[in-house]
Amino acid sequence: MDKKTGIVADKIKKSKQLIVFTGAGISTESGIPDYRSQGGIWDKFQPVYFDEFMASEKARIKYWQQRVDMEKSLSVSKPNIGHESIARLYELGFLKTLITQNIDGLHEESGIPKEKIIELHGNTRRVRCMTCKKLISWDKAQVMIDAGDQAPICSCGGFLKPDTISFGQAMPVEETQKAAMLSSKSDVFIVVGSTLLVQPASLMPEYAKNAGAFFVIINLSETPYDNVCDILIRGKAGEVLKEIVSKVNSA
Ligand code: NAD
Repeated sequence: MDKKTGIVADKIKKSKQLIVFTGAGISTESGIPDYRSQGGIWDKFQPVYFDEFMASEKARIKYWQQRVDMEKSLSVSKPNIGHESIARLYELGFLKTLITQNIDGLHEESGIPKEKIIELHGNTRRVRCMTCKKLISWDKAQVMIDAGDQAPICSCGGFLKPDTISFGQAMPVEETQKAAMLSSKSDVFIVVGSTLLVQPASLMPEYAKNAGAFFVIINLSETPYDNVCDILIRGKAGEVLKEIVSKVNSA
């Protein structure tokens, strides 16, 4: 790992358009399970597809139960050394854009400004009405749930849903286009903690690689891009990123 983190640090120091792209694996060290690892969310729950959510109250109740269950880990989670190391790369002036598939808001909490973060799959700390599109905070939705509402409804009568992208739901156009455009202009592109199985998010590294970026993957398990990347580091995000940042900091 030592030699590889040194090469990555060197590339970061020379970069002009560094992008870090994160998935659920950056947040497991904050106590939030990922989807696909053993013990991950899909071991416990079946996903609720967007059309099911819109069509059936039973599906909406199931979806909200999953969200309430996630709150147990989300409410006590804090950015970990991995998030903090990426924030440090921003403070040092190297990180230009952070693209995340995560919905937990921990990158913003770690100190990266909102405008430097592209959330491809939304953010579960806010809730949106599917009819009038109004946003409310998670806390307001929590009050409704605590009052016994199993699938809260907006004052306009529309279904309220955590503001995240479910399977089968359209991607946010602006965020997806911006992420694709910036990825294809990056010169160093670092993936952290993602299986790179969910499209179109997983196409971003491909755009970067095709445009000639130096492509790094830091992940505990295999990805379909392991043979394509320039450096593959099979390690824990927090430890690896900490080591990279300490090398970026050293002369
Ligand atoms: P995923 O569950 O498919 O993959 C996570 C990957 O991270 C796995 O390959 C795993 O081996 C790796 N990993 C786990 N802990 C790690 C660690 N400490 N260091 C390095 N690697 C680690 O997640 P994904 O690729 O992000 O999948 C997509 C979906 O998961 C996204 O849509 C995202 O919205 C959603 N999701 C987000 C959160 C969150 O916001 N924290 C949590 C669960 C799922």
